[in-house]
Amino acid sequence: MKQKIGLFGGSFDPVHLGHLLVAQAACEEAGLDRLYFIPAAQSPFKPGASPAPASERLRLLRLALAGGNRYEIDEQEVLRGGVSYSIDTVRDYARRFPDSKLFYLIGADHVGSLPKWRAEEELARLVEFIVIPRPGQPPTEFAPPFQGRMLKGFPLGVSASEIRARARAGLPLDNLVPPAVAGAIRNYRLYL
Ligand code: ATP
Repeated sequence: MKQKIGLFGGSFDPVHLGHLLVAQAACEEAGLDRLYFIPAAQSPFKPGASPAPASERLRLLRLALAGGNRYEIDEQEVLRGGVSYSIDTVRDYARRFPDSKLFYLIGADHVGSLPKWRAEEELARLVEFIVIPRPGQPPTEFAPPFQGRMLKGFPLGVSASEIRARARAGLPLDNLVPPAVAGAIRNYRLYL
C-alpha cells in the first residue's frame, strides 16, 4: 500500500479551527498517513496582503498542532521566501517521496482558480486535490486536467480574516482558534 501524504498550504494568518477540522476530515476521509501544514511566505493570490511575520504564524501553528502525531509543519516556503508557488513545494515532495501518493488540500473557494496556478499541467500530474466545502461555495467541478474529490466534511464559517478583524476589535477568539493560539495572539498583541 502506498503511503498517502497530504499537503496543506495556506497563509495560516492565523491558523484556526476551520484549518484543524479540514485536516481531521482529510485524514479520516482520505485515509492520509501524514499531513504537512505548509505556511506560505507570500500567497500568489494575496499580492497586496502583508501577513503577520512568518515567525509569529509558525509560533501559532506549533501551538495549534502540539501533540498531534500525524501533523507536521514544513517551513520550506517560508525559508525560500518571496512568492510561494505550490508547484515548487509539490516538486520537492515528489522528489523526496517518490513512492507515496500526494494529496493537496484546498478550500472550495480555490477550485475555480486552479487553472491559473503555476505549472498547472505538472501540478495536476503530481497531486490529487482534496477539497473541503466552505459556506457559500457551491460544489465546483474540476477543470481538466485536475482531479480530486470533495470531502463530505461540513462547511464551517471560520476564516482567518474574521479572526484578524475580531482581534483588532478586541473581541474574544474562543472557539474559533485553539485556546493556546488565542492566548498567544493576546499576549503577543498580534493583529492589532
Ligand atoms: P483569509 O480569511 O485570510 O483569506 P483563510 O481562513 O481562507 O484566510 P488560509 O490560511 O489562506 O485561510 O487557508 C488555507 C487553506 O485552507 C485554503 O485552501 C482555504 O480555502 C482553506 N480554508 C480555510 N478556512 C477554511 C474553512 N473554514 N473551511 C474550509 N477550508 C478552509
